[in-house]
Amino acid sequence: MSKINGAVLVLSGPSGAGKSSLIHKIIDDIGECYFSISTTTRAMREGEVEGVDYHFVDKEEFEREIEEDQFLEYAVVHGNYYGTSLRCVKEALSAGKLVIFDIDVQGNSSVQNRLGDITTSVFITPPTLSELKKRLENRSTDRLEVIEKRIKMARKEIQRISEYEYLLINDDLDVAAEKLGVIATAARFKKSDDEIGLFVNQWEDI
Ligand code: 5GP
Repeated sequence: MSKINGAVLVLSGPSGAGKSSLIHKIIDDIGECYFSISTTTRAMREGEVEGVDYHFVDKEEFEREIEEDQFLEYAVVHGNYYGTSLRCVKEALSAGKLVIFDIDVQGNSSVQNRLGDITTSVFITPPTLSELKKRLENRSTDRLEVIEKRIKMARKEIQRISEYEYLLINDDLDVAAEKLGVIATAARFKKSDDEIGLFVNQWEDI
């Protein structure tokens, strides 16, 4: 990808970590950004809206989009496909926006491979496993077996925190949101290797 002026902020962490609430809290205060809406084959949860929370498609449609190379990255999470469409991300980056991804650890690793120089990564988690269990049970939008699957996944994901630049413990929502706002603001200043090369050339010319 060339001529990129924007930057990327990857947020990962177990379902129930509070990523969506944190994003909602900071989104109006961090300048021009684009929150990437993923495509998924998982069933829509109560209260979710097509095109707002996700683009909901069936497995055949998702696999067709894989073949057409439409994804920046995709992964199987909890037995369903999740993926980030390339086109909207490219447009937002060209427009100089901060592109925010809520993706899992596999997605982070793909984004690091493709856009590592302009990416800031944050792993968000509740302070303890028992707190996570409590939050997932209180959310009560998922069946018990789904909650158990998510907890099992969380135990695996937590082992990969070292792949992230920041660990954000979401104990108190206001405090965590303030910290995330600072990280998001700084993320915007990351420059791509191409931009740095151009700057150095121009700087020497002056
Ligand atoms: P949920 O089903 O709770 O909305 O999301 C489950 C997991 O999928 C979360 O960890 C979330 O970060 C991850 N996820 C959502 N969208 C994407 C995506 O486009 N790519 C990847 N790799 N993971 C995603």
